[in-house]
Amino acid sequence: MEIFICILLFIFGSIIGSFLGCMGYRIPNKIKTTYPNSYCENCKKELKWYMNIPILSYILLKGKCAYCHKKINSIYFLTELLSAILFVINYLVFGFTLNFYISTILTCVLIVTIVSDFLYYYISDRVIIISTILLIILQSVFLKIYAFKYILSAALMFGFMCIIKLIGNMVFKKESLGDGDIKLMAVISLAIGMYNSFFALFIASITGLLFSLFYIRKNKDGIIPFGPFLIIGALSILYINNFINMMQLFNEIL
Ligand SMILES: [Zn+2]
Repeated sequence: MEIFICILLFIFGSIIGSFLGCMGYRIPNKIKTTYPNSYCENCKKELKWYMNIPILSYILLKGKCAYCHKKINSIYFLTELLSAILFVINYLVFGFTLNFYISTILTCVLIVTIVSDFLYYYISDRVIIISTILLIILQSVFLKIYAFKYILSAALMFGFMCIIKLIGNMVFKKESLGDGDIKLMAVISLAIGMYNSFFALFIASITGLLFSLFYIRKNKDGIIPFGPFLIIGALSILYINNFINMMQLFNEIL
């Protein structure tokens, strides 16, 4: 049964990942999210259904367009794979609990943001708004009145990040923090609480820094796309907290 759920989640995650990767491309380029159907970015020919199967098509087509043979950016394949794997990991770590749904929403935000922030230095307001609404509904259903704590966390984090940005701008005499990153931190605070968000910020800073050392991709202002790292930080904290809780449970039993 368990393996059956994992396979289903892997397939479902890859389909969602494919859709979200496409959104990550379409939203910054101001292309409608529902129309046209998927097409090659180079020759603009519409893709047949079998050229559009998540993960598989990229492997079968050897990463090239079936019509013009231009290389397809591997970021789409990687995000489909990452989405599928994270859907399964979220289930294996949390089961179908509140944290599964929270980590899966964060996974979805991560997939869109990887494409839009890495390729276009853009974090979509639409993604921020949809994830905020979903998280508030989720927390309200599971936590009832205590959901208020997370909403307050998000508001406080938003204020805190704005102050950090103002100070940063004064010190560095240039834009120190993107507005998208500030909004994303509020979403993360809504998902995992303020206290955990600071740890997420810490992990994001370290992974972001390491990444920029190995793979320098900065825009003309020297800005590193930071959004994906913030969400990776948030997911890591959820996994780490779960691990610590399990260890404590083991200690109590033994
Ligand atoms: Zn093509």
